[in-house]
Amino acid sequence: MKEFDCADVVPGCGASFRAPTAEELLLHGRVHAEHGHGKVAADMPAVDVAVGRAIRDVA
Ligand SMILES: [Zn+2]
Repeated sequence: MKEFDCADVVPGCGASFRAPTAEELLLHGRVHAEHGHGKVAADMPAVDVAVGRAIRDVA
């Protein structure tokens, strides 16, 4: 299982996501970035990089 805490990218954000694969977690990150942080399609490559760096393996 993989985990992503948005606070690792956006300090103070309480959103946390888990998914079986990094690819799925990146999708969660994109949706959250759009709805939670006002990101647009042009921002998504940077969002993918930031989320990708913050993903951790969890049990
Ligand atoms: Zn967030």
